[in-house]
Amino acid sequence: MEIKNIPCPFCGCLCDDIIVNVEDNELKGVKNGCGICITKFMKHHVNAVQSPMLKKEGNLVNVSMDEAIEKAAEILKNAKYPLIFGLSTTECEAQSKALELAELTGATIDQLPSVCHGPSMMALQSVGQTTATLGEIKNRADLVIFWGCNPIEAHPRHFNRYSGTATGMWSDRSKRYIVTIDVRETQTAKKSDKFIKISHGKDYELISIMRAAIKGQKIPDNVEEITGVNKEDIENLINRMKNAKYGVVFYGMGMTQTFGKELNTDNAISLIKDLNELTKFSIIPMLGHYNVSGAVHVWGWQTGYPFSINFALQYPRYNPGEFSATQMLARKECDAALIIATDPVAHLPNEAARHLANIQVITIDPKFSLTALISDVVIPAATAGIEAEGTAYRMDGIPLRLKKVVNSEFPPDREILERIIEKIKE
Ligand code: SF4
Repeated sequence: MEIKNIPCPFCGCLCDDIIVNVEDNELKGVKNGCGICITKFMKHHVNAVQSPMLKKEGNLVNVSMDEAIEKAAEILKNAKYPLIFGLSTTECEAQSKALELAELTGATIDQLPSVCHGPSMMALQSVGQTTATLGEIKNRADLVIFWGCNPIEAHPRHFNRYSGTATGMWSDRSKRYIVTIDVRETQTAKKSDKFIKISHGKDYELISIMRAAIKGQKIPDNVEEITGVNKEDIENLINRMKNAKYGVVFYGMGMTQTFGKELNTDNAISLIKDLNELTKFSIIPMLGHYNVSGAVHVWGWQTGYPFSINFALQYPRYNPGEFSATQMLARKECDAALIIATDPVAHLPNEAARHLANIQVITIDPKFSLTALISDVVIPAATAGIEAEGTAYRMDGIPLRLKKVVNSEFPPDREILERIIEKIKE
């Protein structure tokens, strides 16, 4: 059976034109996807958790789902300061249930932006957002700037489908000028019309100089010494930006996680606001995991906050840093953790990962991970977007419906969380 128009549950592009072939509940082929997408679908069962597990006498042993849920509920109920973390690669319905669980247990809940695009969210909260859909960009953009991001390698279809060589109604590659600003010549830079090499950590300075120049101020003579970019390149870029009919800046962790963090993004959004007095311009974060934006929206509606939310006082409090998973773990503050659809032991800094090994950990994940290995409870889940349907938000904030293309013997994350909530309430 051929199933069409499947969104790919991997990166923030959420390409929704994937075609899969399924026979006897087995995936036989994937069309239209990039290499990452094909691997995600075709190898979704590789290294999968085969049964719920509990740690007994130092070893993980297979148990029933009921036993694993009961133990998870007991750990969270008895914890003084639990942490719930992950959730950027699962459906919105699970993100909402996890928030309910955090409120019930007085936990801190955090998702992956606290280690990647958190500064983007903080900047949006302070200066707002000038945004557009990826479809609008494909159809209209005549100037595309990639700042501190490398879609050719990190979001493989972004360049061809939406921003670079994509052919839209009123724009195509021949009418589109592409600039990459980065500290090194990436694959995206090589496909661009112009590569501007900036000194590491000098984004804030360059944006400030550009904003001043757009408002008629003189570009300092020593600008190259300050930013690594020569005066002529800055003047040409500003002219292109002012004269574009429809411009867009896509920015990545090269801007959000370098010196200045949210102040860089704050300044970049303000630059785009300034440009909108002259022409039409948008700015969009290149979100990596496919449903970071979903948690931002869902938690935003429910608490007013996008990540790093604490319920210790039974109402939501927000303070990135104080309530960020990495810092809480590194400071050894939490005494239990529920990890959903992520692998912090493999990816967080050493001090944070070490603390996880010393507290009680519950992992809900379709795949067996390093975090599962150190967990006290491991609960397998259906993979969202392959074995379970749900909602996810694309990097431009457009919600798309994930589809179930094969069956799983395990429930989706939202059902597991619902059962833990019911057990705690009992
Ligand atoms: S670009 Fe991203 S969403 Fe699109 S097919 Fe590749 S991995 Fe999937």
